[in-house]
Amino acid sequence: MHIGFAGAGLSCAVIGRAFAEAGHTVSIFEQRDHVAGNCHTERDGATGVMVHAYGPHIFHTNDTEVWDYVNRFERFLPYTNRVKATAQGRVYSLPINLLTINQFFGKTFIPAEARAFIEEQADQSITDPQSFEEQALRFVGPDLYAAFFRGYTRKQWGLEPTEIPASILKRLPLRFNYNDDYFDHRFQGMPEGGYTQMVERILDHDNITVTLGTPLAPDDVSKFDHVFYSGPLDGFFGEEHGKLRYRTLDFERMEAQGDAQGCAVMNYCDEDTPWTRITEHKHFSPWEDHEDSVLFREYSRACEAEDIPYYPVHLVAGDRTLDAYRAAAEALENVTFVGRLGTYRYMDMDVTIRAALDTARGWLAARG
Ligand code: UDP
Repeated sequence: MHIGFAGAGLSCAVIGRAFAEAGHTVSIFEQRDHVAGNCHTERDGATGVMVHAYGPHIFHTNDTEVWDYVNRFERFLPYTNRVKATAQGRVYSLPINLLTINQFFGKTFIPAEARAFIEEQADQSITDPQSFEEQALRFVGPDLYAAFFRGYTRKQWGLEPTEIPASILKRLPLRFNYNDDYFDHRFQGMPEGGYTQMVERILDHDNITVTLGTPLAPDDVSKFDHVFYSGPLDGFFGEEHGKLRYRTLDFERMEAQGDAQGCAVMNYCDEDTPWTRITEHKHFSPWEDHEDSVLFREYSRACEAEDIPYYPVHLVAGDRTLDAYRAAAEALENVTFVGRLGTYRYMDMDVTIRAALDTARGWLAARG
């Protein structure tokens, strides 16, 4: 069979590889001039630092098969994401852990004391938190919420934390010990040669052709036996049910010498600081040596027609536009929508790969 793919990010690369290995002909069309989608990495021209061109991407997973899969194509070196936060004029450790709590409240709590203290602060009347704000008030209490989450979240999502779902805050652990690893996963690391090299290797197969700078348009679907589409769901349907909301990011580049920030990611939680975070990319490759440094301030805003969509925006109230597109997608037999934009889900890289492996396997078992 001849299978078409819209996009050369993780989803289509992994599915395409599975189809190629099963003997099918795979044609991948990518409108940008590089593969790897928003996890694209490239060497910064001026400093030589490996930069995550669309913002920080740290690989972390509990999924052994996914970890083995990425290691098959690229060497992952040990990396632990330890994020810092500037809030109310001080620097704290994230995710919220015992050090954060003790520093913030000026205490010397042991774990049990911290837990009891936070429980006292928390709003126990919230039994089934639906919104980001309810989740925060129930589990971290009003002071930590105001310092670390309210302002950042309004900047990041352009919405009130009462309007966005609790699941967004559930991404972050809350710990009553001094573990400051941003993630709770068994496996974590950084690709030695970057994510783009990894995706290029996934795509390096005799049955795969990649065409850059060329989108696969909805009108092209009939040329293939099946299409996997990783572009925006509403775009495929010509926005006939209206626009889905996405957030886009702007990056402001800054060059420096030596170690300018002291860590890879510094979040800025105060609402009157317009950016959400600053990333100093050389800290993502601690095995490399660079005197020069490059940092990017990250700003979030509503995604307009010409912008690159990054984050789907989900609302507690639900979204009838999304329901309409999901129904339309479901009704199409020869197109499968995949990835963060195609399924309109806030997926991490490991979840994207897991979903791609499952999609390919299911499809090949049924029809391949
Ligand atoms: N968040 C926050 N303050 C922070 C970090 C995160 O309020 O210092 C909230 C914010 O709403 C964000 C969400 O938690 O969108 C998820 O954070 P994560 O670090 O997973 O975001 P990502 O790296 O995917 O942008």
